[in-house]
Amino acid sequence: MTDAQLNKEIECRRTFAIISHPDAGKTTITEKVLLYGNHLQKAGTVKGRGSNQHAKSDWMEMEKDRGISITTSVMQFPYKGSLVNLLDTPGHEDFSEDTYRTLTAVDSCLMVIDAAKGVEDRTRKLMEVTRLRDTPIITFMNKLDRDIRDPMEVLDEVEDELKIACAPITWPIGCGKLFKGVYHIHRDEVILYQTGQGSTVQEVNTIKGLNNPEIDAAIGEDLAAQMRDELELVIGASHEFDQELFLAGELTPVFFGTALGNFGVDHMLDGLTQWSPTPMPRQTSVREVFANEENFSGFIFKIQANMDPKHRDRVAFMRIVSGKYEKGMKMNHVRLGKDVRISDALTFVAGDRSAVEEAYPGDIIGLHNHGTIQIGDTFTQGEDFKFAGIPNFAPELFRRIRLKDPLKQKQLLKGLIQLSEEGAVQVFRPLDNNDLIVGAVGILQFDVVVQRLKSEYNVEAIYEAVNVATARWVSCEDDKKFEEFRRKCSTNLALDGGNNLTYIAPTRVNLNLSKERYPEVVFTETREH
Ligand code: GDP
Repeated sequence: MTDAQLNKEIECRRTFAIISHPDAGKTTITEKVLLYGNHLQKAGTVKGRGSNQHAKSDWMEMEKDRGISITTSVMQFPYKGSLVNLLDTPGHEDFSEDTYRTLTAVDSCLMVIDAAKGVEDRTRKLMEVTRLRDTPIITFMNKLDRDIRDPMEVLDEVEDELKIACAPITWPIGCGKLFKGVYHIHRDEVILYQTGQGSTVQEVNTIKGLNNPEIDAAIGEDLAAQMRDELELVIGASHEFDQELFLAGELTPVFFGTALGNFGVDHMLDGLTQWSPTPMPRQTSVREVFANEENFSGFIFKIQANMDPKHRDRVAFMRIVSGKYEKGMKMNHVRLGKDVRISDALTFVAGDRSAVEEAYPGDIIGLHNHGTIQIGDTFTQGEDFKFAGIPNFAPELFRRIRLKDPLKQKQLLKGLIQLSEEGAVQVFRPLDNNDLIVGAVGILQFDVVVQRLKSEYNVEAIYEAVNVATARWVSCEDDKKFEEFRRKCSTNLALDGGNNLTYIAPTRVNLNLSKERYPEVVFTETREH
């Protein structure tokens, strides 16, 4: 493989995820995006709404039962000469850790905002996470087919609350029943909206030039005049698109449309493929690694079980950072210091799994995992480094877990440790007793764990209340002081699934007292895998 070939593959790749508040339209946009990627002939199959084709990401019964999307799936599709990887993230807040980790594996994000509602809570939180790496953000203002708020006001809200400058690329003409389409500021053309085209790629009806009288004929003189006035204001008052500021995460191009009406998603995709970064370098424990390096490297950001009920397996998702994956290649599993030959990695084209022959930086491949791969693991072609920044968050909810059949203690422990390696839940083993404490960030995680322990490990477990309010990972440079801390606080200390020492506090007051009492000990709320 020559440098030029590798560069060509890198140049065409874009890897992104969608961040939004539940109900803003993430799923609907995903469907339309896939429609453009020619993967679904007719959109409407991601959640299987009224369709007989089963939703690909709904592999878990719970998802169907509760109508929530728990898992992260990956979709790759071509779009106008680019190859786009879209990483789906769980919509439910209880699985936000998964979302955070997924955001470490993308190079840009699409922020979807319900234009009737403006900036909502979860969007705010997710934007904070993207800030950690200054991820470039593209914005889609959705649901223009409904009555929305004044678009200028919504842009102001984004700028004020999310601290990111907005550069409108398109501007809406009316909304709700009067939604007529958008004016594309960069292309100087009006693109007309037609209703009833939600599930097919629309025939594009455009009128070139803002002062073209055809616009008046198409949307009426009043609306046309109003649009021209508004645009004069908007163009004067808003930011111009600036590639550098966009790449620095300081400015977002904004598109308007309706995902349900399948309008505007293509404008957004055009912007995304034109402006979003090609696969970015990633920091490691030793140095920064660039996509166009000859040697292969990648990291695991997600482990998912039972992707396909027929297979009952666990798949580790790897983001390729550099070099090329080829079927049958040997890679080094850095944490284990072991070479492994990988001949059956998977790709996820529109949610379907298939064997991959080759893959490049920006791509996500799935490795079959028989318990040796953990979240955060690095794979290289021999070099000894570890990718940085894949977080674990201190859980806020705790339960003691107990077996119905006490003879299966070993199975239970094995199951819990494996599930914690997947990031499904966290497990703590107190130093002073034989309890098993499960910690979660969101309450639904507890249900998932019990269900999976039963179906995958054949153990029936139940929860009991436990007197733990919060947990912190602890470390200390001074061995002597640490030893004293360990001795005096042993009743509050536990080992997590990866044998890291953790302080489990019955109350926040207790935590604060211990922090004051042992100033040399570092208590951390997030831990890198
Ligand atoms: P998610 O929770 O962000 O994945 O949101 P969904 O894509 O499931 O959408 C939530 C609801 O909003 C669904 O009932 C969609 O049909 C609806 N919806 C999504 N996009 C639009 C839109 O552009 N216009 C209207 N009117 N409804 C929409």
